[in-house]
Amino acid sequence: KSGFVAIIGRPNVGKSTLMNQVIGQKIAIMSDKPQTTRNKIHGVYTSDNQQIVFLDTPGIHKRQSKLGDYMNQTALNTLSEVEAALFLIDASEGMGGGDRYIAEQLKNIRTPVILVMNKIDKIEPEALLPLIEEYRKLHDFAEIVPVSAKHGNNVSTLLEQLGKYL
Ligand code: GDP
Ligand code: MG
Repeated sequence: KSGFVAIIGRPNVGKSTLMNQVIGQKIAIMSDKPQTTRNKIHGVYTSDNQQIVFLDTPGIHKRQSKLGDYMNQTALNTLSEVEAALFLIDASEGMGGGDRYIAEQLKNIRTPVILVMNKIDKIEPEALLPLIEEYRKLHDFAEIVPVSAKHGNNVSTLLEQLGKYL
């Protein structure tokens, strides 16, 4: 199985940390070269039965400028070209305006979006379910996977779930 996966999320939610955790020593390509239609290739994960190209989308930010519009449009174009998207959030901070704004942009996207609730090492286990309920109202997520990108918890489950959409 192989495919393209976009990673989205506001700054500091752990996108880079997740990439490092997933790719680890299995780096095939790490490139900053801009791709014409696919944007930046951030990394390629290869295992016995999966090859996943992770794309770093330019951030989806709330911005009142032409450049902001362009970046958002580029990110949205990327989202419509990939097999799946990972929407990372920081579970230890809870829902913020940045998360809501991104979710709004996902409204007309048909691509399956997996909600990745990161930094679960920083929260009480009881806090997870209420938070999941809150996020479910934002979007019809294909999957919801809690992880700790930093410590690697549940990252293998995330890759397994992702495999369904490749
Ligand atoms: P990005 O801006 O989305 O790429 O976020 P980074 O990957 O740069 O992470 C931002 C900060 O969050 C860094 O200090 C990371 O060490 C920290 N971080 C990322 N993932 C986790 C996690 O699972 N647990 C904890 N405790 N910290 C994390
Ligand atoms: Mg980063």
